[in-house]
Amino acid sequence: MNQPYTPLVGSTAAPVVTGVETVILDLPTIRPHKLSVATMNGQVLTIVRIHCSDGITGIGEGTTIGGLAYGGESPESMKVNIDTWFAPVMIGQDATRVQALMARIGRMVRENRFAKSAVETALLDAHGKRLGLPVSELLGGRRRDRLPVAWTLASGDTARDIDEAGRMLDLRRHRIFKLKIGARAIRDDIAHVAAIKSALGDRAMVRVDVNMAWSESEAAFGMAALADAGCELVEQPVASAAALTRLVRRFPVALMADESLTGPESAFELARVHGADVFAVKLEQSGGAFNALRVAAIADAAGIGLYGGTMLEGAVGTVVSAHAFATFARLDWGTELFGPLLLTEEILTEPLDYSDFELTVPGGPGLGVTLDEDRVAFFARDGIRKTISLPTARG
Ligand SMILES: [Mg+2]
Repeated sequence: MNQPYTPLVGSTAAPVVTGVETVILDLPTIRPHKLSVATMNGQVLTIVRIHCSDGITGIGEGTTIGGLAYGGESPESMKVNIDTWFAPVMIGQDATRVQALMARIGRMVRENRFAKSAVETALLDAHGKRLGLPVSELLGGRRRDRLPVAWTLASGDTARDIDEAGRMLDLRRHRIFKLKIGARAIRDDIAHVAAIKSALGDRAMVRVDVNMAWSESEAAFGMAALADAGCELVEQPVASAAALTRLVRRFPVALMADESLTGPESAFELARVHGADVFAVKLEQSGGAFNALRVAAIADAAGIGLYGGTMLEGAVGTVVSAHAFATFARLDWGTELFGPLLLTEEILTEPLDYSDFELTVPGGPGLGVTLDEDRVAFFARDGIRKTISLPTARG
């Protein structure tokens, strides 16, 4: 018999999960954020802390766009489900085998992709700290340290949006602008986009996100008009993958799938029917970083472009996305990891670096960021400050 092999991870002496903690934070936004599905006046983050027997704690985050306006999970449901159903499955388990533990959770918990992403993030942060490696290295190794970041213009007012874009260009923060449309009459939306593109000219790229608000015939009219207006990409104009497939390549404007992507299976199906030119990959929508990498691999194999999407996460959710996107072979369409910039409050001890139109992927162990615990306590829903009016999602 050979000498028993003592692995660095997964041995009987490996650290185990000893505690899972969740807290809901209510944070104000810098302005109302108008989408076709909701108007956000604030953002709600569910912060997860996973404590391990070696004294290491990892942090993760789950959030949604407009409460339940986007999908079946809310920050509140994530907290309840993680506290009640995830934690018992995790306590006592090897904290060093992140994918095995996520598979164990997957057997006991159906769906709940956003909550799984939050928990997986905390496990990756803890394990990265344990090994002294950034999360990007646990995900296969980063290919870049900086990511282009688009900004979403969603004030609902054309002049205000042009003004906001001009400020972003002057600050060298963003030069890719995504316009949220679909809530108004289609001709008004087209006029809105055309006015913004004409005001910004070649200084900026203009894209739109319809958030599934159009019928297929509206989308056919809209995509032709948007191409004429100089818009370079249309995101999820319609709800169904079949309709996306019929629209793709008919107009000189790229078509991106977002809501239709709910993980590797839907990505494979969309790739199979050639339903998109670009995938908006989101960690929460995919069910975590590892699944997001699988979505990206499917896109690569199918010749579909990649864009790093956001659910308007706060700093923690944004950073784990940045670590994952930094590993993508191709990221032709950049990212929209601007979530923390939409919030008025900083919850990290050291803010993320947004400069020269890009976000720097932190280089420290784990996620490479630290929560400001005083700020977390201050903004906790049941914490010190209870006077904040809760964010509302209005249709
Ligand atoms: Mg979208």
